[in-house]
Amino acid sequence: MLPAEIPDGRALASRIEAELRAEVDTFASLFNSRPRLVVVLVGDVAASGSYVKGKAAAAARVGIDSEVVAVPGTATTAELVDLVRAIAAGEKGRADGILVQLPLPPQVDAAAVLDAVPPDRDVDGFHPENAGLLAQGRPRFVPCTAAGVQRILIDAGVEAAGRHAVIVGRSDIVGKPLAALLGAKPPRALAPGQRTCCDATVTLCHSRSANLAALTRQADILVAAVGRPNLITAEMVKPGATVIDVGINRVAGRLVGDVDFESVREVAGKLTPVPGGVGPLTVAMLLANTLLAAELGTRS
Ligand code: NAD
Repeated sequence: MLPAEIPDGRALASRIEAELRAEVDTFASLFNSRPRLVVVLVGDVAASGSYVKGKAAAAARVGIDSEVVAVPGTATTAELVDLVRAIAAGEKGRADGILVQLPLPPQVDAAAVLDAVPPDRDVDGFHPENAGLLAQGRPRFVPCTAAGVQRILIDAGVEAAGRHAVIVGRSDIVGKPLAALLGAKPPRALAPGQRTCCDATVTLCHSRSANLAALTRQADILVAAVGRPNLITAEMVKPGATVIDVGINRVAGRLVGDVDFESVREVAGKLTPVPGGVGPLTVAMLLANTLLAAELGTRS
């Protein structure tokens, strides 16, 4: 069997950025101002800081303005809720999109802070209203990583209808929204040339799933979103399956995913790399959500 095709997330993300750049320019010339994203960064978790820098740099590339509001890691839930409300009220300038970088420190009730983000500016798609809309099959802001996985599948020409998608990891930010996307009915009307990737039969696995390998071996599309290096090995993959590795783990100073890349590439039909797979798409989807927030916003 031929080794798996390796979809290039960076190349896809730069194509999406080029499209967004044109749409942002059109928006800016219509409304005389650019979409603007405000990011709340709490504490000095190194990974969070570098994710936020990456998001700000990507925003600048497509012409979206952004500001990072950094607060100490000792912040309380009440302080962060107040800060998010102040940002929403315009105290840090226009905020079409508001994002609170996760994880938050342990003393903070993350749900309370995320719930304070107005749902029509919730570019991460974590507010219960947006989660509910997605669950009902009428998505508004879709969590960026789940949307990014679907975009990679679409771009790679992977057909999901009638196929079995097995998602390992049931978090609110990746696994659950992705299950909703891949298991959804297709949109009623597709724009010319628009493709979609849905209508799958979805199995959502988690830490208490019994006999994980027996489940993953059934997958035509297998998504690993756990945060455990080498969790998915070649014996757990159906020959020819599409395998999407969402995991990001630092092992001996190197970033690796949840999939044992070298063995699984001999079995899978397609396998996304880490880094350079889902990660760049997550950022591209954030930019798309920020433009959407600006379009839904109050300029008109
Ligand atoms: P999380 O910790 O919130 O959830 C992990 C999930 O894995 C849980 O549902 C848990 O039940 C499940 N799990 C744990 N151990 C398991 C096991 N042995 N077998 C089966 N399931 C198991 O994680 P998350 O926030 O969804 O992130 C998952 C991974 O994806 C992390 O590595 C994270 O860094 C990465 N991530 C990547 C991106 C990206 O842009 N590429 C974005 C978000 C998260």
